[in-house]
Amino acid sequence: MRKKIVAGNWKMHNDLNETISLINELKKNDIYSDVIVMISPAFPFLQMALELVKKSNIEVVSQNVHQKPKGAFTGEISVEMLKSIGINKTIIGHSERRKYFNENDTVLLEKVKLALSNDLDIIFCFGEELLDRKSNRHFEVVMNQLKKTVLNLDKDSWNKIVLAYEPVWAIGTGETASPDQAQEMHEFIRKCILESYDKTTSENVSILYGGSVKPSNANEIFSKKDVDGGLIGGASLNAKDFQLIIKANSSL
Ligand code: PEP
Repeated sequence: MRKKIVAGNWKMHNDLNETISLINELKKNDIYSDVIVMISPAFPFLQMALELVKKSNIEVVSQNVHQKPKGAFTGEISVEMLKSIGINKTIIGHSERRKYFNENDTVLLEKVKLALSNDLDIIFCFGEELLDRKSNRHFEVVMNQLKKTVLNLDKDSWNKIVLAYEPVWAIGTGETASPDQAQEMHEFIRKCILESYDKTTSENVSILYGGSVKPSNANEIFSKKDVDGGLIGGASLNAKDFQLIIKANSSL
């Protein structure tokens, strides 16, 4: 079953006290039972975040994970480490990981396979650059990103995957894809999945949109039929704004 999701990616923001107060603020928010709420604090605070969200409807997600199970990889975090503290989901493939840490499709597929084989579910991010869109290559670029990564997986893996289409030109820029641009791409993504698998798989996967979603544009973006929610950066750092975005995705 396709799920409505709003996930906050806190990136390298918020120290210990800021993380605690933001979680406590979010816990005071109204609950919309038809929307799954996720937050992704920085690594040092994951375990504490898991404690703080107990008895709330908030899930805690990792921002990244390493592609090897263990070894001499100074500064990295393994699937096993995340699982051992109770984390069951991770973001993989965020455009900032691709851009600043040179994570290519080969590495990302390695990460995806390792995570899934250890029951660490994933939010897989992908999306075109501004130049791709300007030269009308955005569909081709997105299809290639998917073909080289998640479309290689077996059908059973798809109940552990959430996709996040994030056009790079819209991330942290204040520029948003129009609701129609988002819908058009999400529909195309479902078609790619349909062609590689079947109707059930393509209909059941949740596809989030990410890129400068804020309270003022969330309603219209989430109203599109193939948009199941959002991966939210900047606006997830403010409890009020994040709550309004969650509300925008609820039909209650
Ligand atoms: C993101 O980092 O995934 C993101 C969508 O950021 P922002 O909402 O700030 O554009």
